Order: sequence, then structure tokens, then C-alpha cells
Amino acid sequence: MKADTMEKVVQYRGTELHTKGWQQEAALRMLMNNLHPDVAEHPEKLVVYGGIGKAARNWESFDAIVRSLKELENDETLLVQSGKPVVIFKTHANAPRVLIANSNIVPAYANWDTFHGLDKRGLMMYGQMTAGSWIYIGSQGIVQGTYETFAELAKQHFGGSLQGTITVTAGLGGMGGAQPLAVTMAGGVCIGIEVDETRIDRRIETRYTDIKTDSLDEAIRLAEEAKAEGKALSIGLLGNASDILPEMIVRGFNPDVLTDQTSAHDPLNGYIPSGMSLTEAEELRKADPDEYVKRSKAAMAKHVQAMIDMMDKGAVTFDYGNNIRQVAKDEGVARAFDFPGFVPAYIRPQFCEGKGPFRWVALSGDPEDIRKTDEVILREFSDNTHLCNWIKMAQEKIQFQGLPSRICWLGYGERARFGKIINDMVASGELSAPIVIGRDHLDSGSVASPNRETEAMKDGSDVVSDWPILNAMINAVGGATWVSVHHGGGVGMGYSQHAGMVIVADGTKEAEERLERVLTTDPGMGIARHVDAGYDLAIQTAKEKGVRIPMMEG
Ligand code: NAD
Repeated sequence: MKADTMEKVVQYRGTELHTKGWQQEAALRMLMNNLHPDVAEHPEKLVVYGGIGKAARNWESFDAIVRSLKELENDETLLVQSGKPVVIFKTHANAPRVLIANSNIVPAYANWDTFHGLDKRGLMMYGQMTAGSWIYIGSQGIVQGTYETFAELAKQHFGGSLQGTITVTAGLGGMGGAQPLAVTMAGGVCIGIEVDETRIDRRIETRYTDIKTDSLDEAIRLAEEAKAEGKALSIGLLGNASDILPEMIVRGFNPDVLTDQTSAHDPLNGYIPSGMSLTEAEELRKADPDEYVKRSKAAMAKHVQAMIDMMDKGAVTFDYGNNIRQVAKDEGVARAFDFPGFVPAYIRPQFCEGKGPFRWVALSGDPEDIRKTDEVILREFSDNTHLCNWIKMAQEKIQFQGLPSRICWLGYGERARFGKIINDMVASGELSAPIVIGRDHLDSGSVASPNRETEAMKDGSDVVSDWPILNAMINAVGGATWVSVHHGGGVGMGYSQHAGMVIVADGTKEAEERLERVLTTDPGMGIARHVDAGYDLAIQTAKEKGVRIPMMEG
């Protein structure tokens, strides 16, 4: 990180405020945390994760956001448009302190060409999901979701464990880096192909990956040995997935499980074309972006074709939310959608119960605060063995990046109950400072994404994007501390709209009321969305939990 930018990213800790209240302080600390060098993938470029997912549009905007948050009164709201602060309004104490809209483009124009044109002219930034909405917590943010996916896959295909299986995937970036750890947590062996050696090294440093090699033969040998011994092992394999997968086929090697998490959603900045070094790719990207995109898309087509060939030979194959199938289809791979997305295949039942990637962060910076909240989960949700196992595993295996944080998939009712307990613990002084509570946009009722979260909806409503907008509005009304509406996210321009929310438990009575409202409406939207699409599990959950659905009443 360059010295001049590094000094702007200050990691505030402890109980001293640098703003006029804990809500503003939380936004400030989380913005800084998103750009912490241990958290962000490329902090000097303001890039947090997911290709070019940024926390602020440019350094001038970053400075102005920081200044605004420091000056913001407890009855004011700051509005941020694609990473640039644009206005401050007097609102009221229970209103959000920040409202964010990132990367939204009128639908008929919502493609990468329009975005890149606007980005070049300094009019827009790519907000991804939790990058531009300041609730990214490093690779942990995705580990449980990834673990849930692999655990469900193991249940459906391998009798409940990945022991004795080999998973092949690619992309060990900010989110994709969670895959090797999730596979080993589920007992399996993972070969993670990654073209950038520094990414592999980072996963090894943070214990998400065990070992690395640049030899395909060695990776296959080590993986097969571990598989035979029933040992869990993750191997970072240096190489380009679009070259390596066809080579695996030539060598007669077929994995048991196959997926991919390269940044394929972004053909220009996220995916590296076949046969190119990183430097060559960077030079071509600058010199001839059109040629780059052409080669990148052609490589993705080759990559997906190899996945289909491996699937035909028996590999359990799924898309991991990066839109690679769509690019391959556009490039003429007719069977690109023959393998399913991870949501319809493994995750949707959880969404029907309002479950999703709930997370919280200790603003104190003290890991002890998170340990205490872990104990709450183990005590309060002791009947949920799956959840308790997750917390124990996370305590043992997950290294914090930046502010200490925890992720765990909680559902409707559980989130509000947990929020109140946390607020009480802040009030009593048991926790040393307020806790900020949020979630990924990849949640049960906050995304419209026909190739991912809303793929293959029962009633065919995959492309309806009223839901994330309703989600954002109801969370703002309820008094979330900051609320965001984004476009593009994990699947790229034109393919998704999604909303985020973050809320502070500062121990006050007002926070208790806000938490009760928002942590109910937010997962409640997930139930409502899936009731509307006709899912029996969502209908049953709504009835059991008393979620009022007008079309089910009367
Ligand atoms: P990232 O940009 O931090 O990492 C992507 C990695 O892929 C980089 O390290 C890059 O070097 C590597 N890569 C690119 N082309 C490659 C190639 N041809 N062969 C091998 N490696 C290659 O992105 P991320 O945050 O890890 O996200 C990865 C993708 O997953 C994105 O498309 C993102 O939108 C999507 N995503 C999915 C989920 C989910 O739950 N399914 C969640 C978040 C993100």
C-alpha cells in the first residue's frame, strides 16, 4: 500500500469516539476496516474484493466520506452515490445515518460497456455486495456459506461427508479463498487453481489453504494420496483454470466435485485469459481492452466446456455464483447451463426459513468480545447442533482479518433474539464496545439474480427485482444504521440487483427497538419472497412464525 493512502486508512479501536455517535463511528470504522490491508485485496486502489468491488469511488471521495461521518449529527443522514458522498440531510434520530446506492444503471443500458464508460469518466464505481456497503469481513464472510454448500452437497451425494473425495475449483481470491477451508472442514481434499501466486500465499498465511504447488502432476498425486488415506487437505495449484482443466482431462484425472470461483462476472478486470501471465494480461487490458475481453470470454467458454466434460464423466458440478455459465452460453457453449447454480442445488431451503449469512463485528477491536458472543450462540441455540458445530469449528480454524467478527447463518426470529442479547451485553458493559450487525447481500430476501440467488424460482419470477428494493425500504423505515441498494454484485452488470443493511447495537433502548424491527423485517422479507414464489417450506415457516402474508389471510 502506498504511504500516502495508507495513512488515510486509520484502524480505530477501543471506546473513544471520533464522531458524534456510535452509529456514525460504526460506519467510519467499517469503511476503514473494509480497506484494512489484511482485509482488502487491493486497498491502495480502494478495491476490497470481487474483481473491482470498491469501498469508495476515489481517494477524494474517501476523504469526503470520512469528513462527513466525523461531522454528521445524530439526526442527519449522509447519502452516498456510487462511492461518492453527495448530500447530507437533516432527518431524525431513528433514520439511517447513511444511505448508499451503488452501480445502478437504467435497465436497458445496464451492461459492462456503459459501466466502464461511466467508471472511466469518474461517474461511477463497482460496489460489489459488501465492498461498497462497508460490511466486508474478509474471507470469513463467505466461509460458512461455502461450508453450508459443501456440507449439503456431501449430504446429497456422499453420505454426509466429503472424506475420501477430491474437489477441484479455481479462484482463491477474497471470497473464493474460502473454498479450500470449507472443503477441508467438510473432510475433503481440495485442489484450488489460482493464476496469481500472491493470492495462494495469502490463503496459506491465513490458514485457508494448506500447501501450494505449480505442478499439476504433483497436485494430482498429493490429492489422490490424501483421498486414499481419507485425509483432509487443500492444495493451491498455480495455473490458469481454462488451461489446467483440459490438461486434467488429458491426464485422465476426474474430480468428485467441481466448481469455480474466478471473478468471471467481470471479463475485463476479473478473469485472466488462457495462456497469459499476470503481467501480460495487465498490459493487454490497458493496451487493448476489447481484445482482452474477447480472449477472456473465449477462455471462459473453454473453461465451462471442460467442466461439462468432467460432469459427464461423473463429477458433481455446480456454478458458484460468478456467472461463468452465462458468458460461456453467449460464446456458443450450448450446454453451459447443464450444471446448476449453488442456490437452487443446495441453499434455497435455508432461504425459505429466512436464513442467510448474518454477521457481526466487534467495534472495540477486542477478540474477547467475539468470544463472548460465540458463547451466547452456543448457549442460546444449543439445540441447533449444526450451528454449534460451526461456531466451534470457526473458533478453532478462522483467523480474524481486521476487526474481530463472526459469521453464522441465523434465520427469522433467531436474528432478532440474538440482536437483543448483544445489545443487552453492550448495555451491561459485558462487551467492551458496541457491536455492528449486518449481512451479505447474498441473503434470503435481498437479491434478484436470475443466474444465482433467484435462479429457477418455483413460479418463474427469477428476474423480478421489486424484492431487494422493498427490502431496502423496509429496513430503512425500521431504522437500520446504513442501508444500500446495488446493481451487478457477484454476477456482473445487468444480472442482479441487491440490498444491504447494517445496524449498530450500542446498548441503548432506542437501539433495542431498532434492532427488534430491522432484524425481523430483514429475514421476514426472505420468507415473504419465497412464500410468494410458492415454496411450501416458506409457507409453513410464515405460519409457524406468524409472518403476516395478506394473500394467505382472509
Ligand atoms: P477476487 O477478484 O478477489 O478473486 C478472483 C480470483 O480469481 C483472483 O485471485 C484471480 O487471480 C483468479 N483468477 C482469475 N482468472 C483466473 C483463471 N483463469 N484461472 C485461475 N484463477 C483465476 O474475487 P472473489 O471475491 O474471490 O470472488 C470470486 C467470484 O465469486 C466473483 O465472481 C464473485 O462475484 C463470486 N462470488 C460468489 C459468491 C458465492 O457465494 N457464490 C460470493 C461472493 C462472490
